[in-house]
Amino acid sequence: MLEIDGSEGEGGGQIVRTALALSMCTGQPFRIRNIRAKRPRPGLLRQHLTAVLAAAEVSGARVEGAAPGSQTLTFEPGLPHAGDYRFAIGTAGSCTLVLQTVLPALLQVSQPSILTVNGGTHNPHAPPVDFLQQALLPLLKNMGAPIELVLKRHGFYPSGGGELVASIEPCAKLQGLELEARGQRIDSYAEAYIAALPFHIAERELDTVGKLMNWSAEKLHVRGLANDRGPGNVLMLTLHYQNITEVFTGFGERGVTAENVARQVCREVLDYLASGAAVGNYLADQLILPLALAGQGSFTTTAPSRHLLTNIAVIQRFLPIAKLAILKEDAHCYRVVVDWPSP
Ligand code: ATP
Repeated sequence: MLEIDGSEGEGGGQIVRTALALSMCTGQPFRIRNIRAKRPRPGLLRQHLTAVLAAAEVSGARVEGAAPGSQTLTFEPGLPHAGDYRFAIGTAGSCTLVLQTVLPALLQVSQPSILTVNGGTHNPHAPPVDFLQQALLPLLKNMGAPIELVLKRHGFYPSGGGELVASIEPCAKLQGLELEARGQRIDSYAEAYIAALPFHIAERELDTVGKLMNWSAEKLHVRGLANDRGPGNVLMLTLHYQNITEVFTGFGERGVTAENVARQVCREVLDYLASGAAVGNYLADQLILPLALAGQGSFTTTAPSRHLLTNIAVIQRFLPIAKLAILKEDAHCYRVVVDWPSP
């Protein structure tokens, strides 16, 4: 049984999700202690618990410690099987992170699956549904895994109530991916979603984006949502290139001006642009797991985050013969290389 220390590195929920995903894919049981030890409220929150229960259902696992607040979990997977799965987080916890937990295993089975998840779809500190649709899933499609993801209803923190539906086609073996350069810019635009909050918040965010990015009015879109979806506000900047699409997100919050929300997101975009790297900070830590399962590939990225380094450490526990390296190209651009004799 693999022993994982959940307090290592980033010390957050990602260690649990990556361990679950790889345990299902490799059949190796594990025990994790000190779950989310570096977070203010350690242990399994609803989002992580739903991911554990989803992984258990998909793989017929034997589980100990799957309870709210639990800081130790034992997970012994059976064989993953396709199905029509429905999981409800019960809070505004992130639906996309639950999807990412079971996705690699559902790609490996021989039949298609449908996955419906209820909860938050646009959460701070998690990938919004649009990020998966625009940035991550097209890369997985290039790796041989077509996944259709539909956003049925927006769900913001704290009310939740959102829903996504993913249709997952099996993919016997993920192919490698070489992602050196972004390629030519095809399009770029900003969208400010607003629900049950004054429209001027979205307008001011977009106004600031227009000025800082030097983008004209036709690239700036206010997206009004029904009042019963709110209160909620998310600002997303999408950069669409030949080889990659990146999505940068900011959330409106009480006490932070609309202008400052926009400034923060623009800063992230400008850092990404200046780096010359193809893959942004968040996408890097999410892409590394499928790439490790593919066994071969590389991508350029911005300075490695603690999430990326921690994810690599967990991956190497489950796939010890996998070679994962981070090479420095220059002060702002790094290359992540995966190469191992996967079957
Ligand atoms: P906790 O941090 O409370 O344990 P958690 O389980 O939600 O909670 P992390 O371990 O921090 O989270 O992992 C968060 C994941 O969400 C990472 O994979 C990170 O790349 C992704 N993420 C965070 N913010 C964004 C964003 N703005 N866009 C895309 N992905 C994001």
